[in-house]
Amino acid sequence: MDLYEYQGKQLFARYDIPVSAGGAADTVDDAVAVAERIGYPVVVKAQVHVGGRGKAGGIQLAADADACRRHATAILGMDIKGHTVGRVWIEQASDIAREYYASFTLDRSAKTHLGMLSAQGGVEIEEVAATNPDAIARIHVDPVDGLTATQCEEWVSAAGLDDEARDGTIDILTKLWRCYEDADADLVEINPLILTTDGVVRALDAKVSLDANSVFRHADYKEYEDTQPRDAREEEAYRKGLQYVGLDGTVGVIANGAGLAMSTVDVVTEVGGQPANFLDIFGGITKGEEVANGIVQALERVAIDAPIVIRLDGTNADEGRAILEPHRSEKLRLEPTMLDAARAAVELAEMSAR
Ligand code: GDP
Ligand code: MN
Repeated sequence: MDLYEYQGKQLFARYDIPVSAGGAADTVDDAVAVAERIGYPVVVKAQVHVGGRGKAGGIQLAADADACRRHATAILGMDIKGHTVGRVWIEQASDIAREYYASFTLDRSAKTHLGMLSAQGGVEIEEVAATNPDAIARIHVDPVDGLTATQCEEWVSAAGLDDEARDGTIDILTKLWRCYEDADADLVEINPLILTTDGVVRALDAKVSLDANSVFRHADYKEYEDTQPRDAREEEAYRKGLQYVGLDGTVGVIANGAGLAMSTVDVVTEVGGQPANFLDIFGGITKGEEVANGIVQALERVAIDAPIVIRLDGTNADEGRAILEPHRSEKLRLEPTMLDAARAAVELAEMSAR
């Protein structure tokens, strides 16, 4: 579950991580009102779930109300990599001396937490990793011990930040670790972490991704769930409590089990098709005849529009197939294997596209 920058900064602020004073706005008038309250110069920042907003023109400095109005007008409604800007964050502008990078995330292959710190921030970290990997100081943080003071100090030394930034960075990393752990985050990233011309270290950007499975122990995360961008299909599925991800292809995928749904998406892709969605319905570890009866019941309630291809396997699959057999038609096909089913579905999708 990804947060917008302003939500990430508000979360950081709760852990006492220094961020610039600011406020969110959905209209140009509100943007100017926020700017008047915090004082010029301000930065007008597009709130979308993608990086590279700066390069796309979604981040602009404004010295006065006229400029703020002009930039907010241009940025609200702007399209950034397919995301429409519906909200801006206005914050007090910073005088930047240096831009660094700091993050904590899960290192799945090492089965532990990974901290990354670099004196080369403000650019995409993937780019630094590709062109100058030694410029990133990496540490693994033991989930039981947490980030220790000694480890943090050595880490900051290894990253080769400016001396002036040392204490402020140690302080921020200590708090950022606490935030990462306490908030059940999968990622907390500050890029850039800045050193200002008057020697202050501060988070200028915030990229936070929270573990959606932890919502039950954070009552306030409901707000983040409610502000996730969803298309109309995803919104309807969310309201019904279904695991649905909308995609751009032509082959609909319904599976009982998220792993099965992912494999199905893979196989459809492998045989040259394009999945239209990912949908996990209830009923994993369910006997074949129960799945089949569920399908039959559904057929009684809806008219089949697009053809359906069924591949049923597992416990009592034969009984399930026998139940479906009388319902076989041009619109309802039964295929014995995943591969056969995927091929049939892709073929049908191509035929209807012609
Ligand atoms: P991103 O492009 O989506 O990662 O957005 P960021 O929030 O990281 O901003 C991109 C860049 O805009 C930063 O690296 C800075 O160079 C610049 N920027 C953002 N805020 C300020 C500010 O307050 N003052 C100045 N001078 N530059 C800023
Ligand atoms: Mn950034």
